[in-house]
Amino acid sequence: MDAEQRQLLLFLCMNANNRKKKISDPLDDTGVAGIFSHLQQHPDTPQSRRVESLLDLLVLLGGVRLGKADKANALARLRAALDRYRFRVQVFPTKQGIQAVYLSARGASTDEQWEYAAVNELLDLLKHEGALARLRRCETCEGWLFALRRSDQKFCSDACRQYLHDNHPEKKTKRLARLRKNYAEDKVRAENAKRRVGYRTR
Ligand SMILES: [Zn+2]
Repeated sequence: MDAEQRQLLLFLCMNANNRKKKISDPLDDTGVAGIFSHLQQHPDTPQSRRVESLLDLLVLLGGVRLGKADKANALARLRAALDRYRFRVQVFPTKQGIQAVYLSARGASTDEQWEYAAVNELLDLLKHEGALARLRRCETCEGWLFALRRSDQKFCSDACRQYLHDNHPEKKTKRLARLRKNYAEDKVRAENAKRRVGYRTR
């Protein structure tokens, strides 16, 4: 048994002991929403890029149709991606009592602090069954979203939903066909009206 396996075994034993008193927090999207807005504002920092590739891996792992081999592969990539992080733990008083908080190393830059907090927040999703399956990209802008209220949510905003609705080629064709039909019907109606007027004036 290597050092890592020993640590894992220790963790599993502790976790089994703690299970009874574990309070599970309700699933909440405020943490991930904060991460998404940071990614939108700072898409090109190395920290944002790493967090985005972590997100991609988590989405992959949350996929329902993922085969056994692909799952093992995604898990191995996630482990490799997480290997770089060296968390330090500290305790802080909060409204819920004293809590342990995982932090970046002392002297870390603001971007690094953000990255550690983001990774921590994303890994917290693993505590909730099915949470990873709610992580996805918006079908319009490809920005991230967390489908908290509706598991089939496809867009990050009403604007993105409307945009795709107005610009989707298939829908656009249908809309044009409808407009053309309305136009043709209006034309017939107008001609009929004209004819009727002509009839009357005659
Ligand atoms: Zn969007």
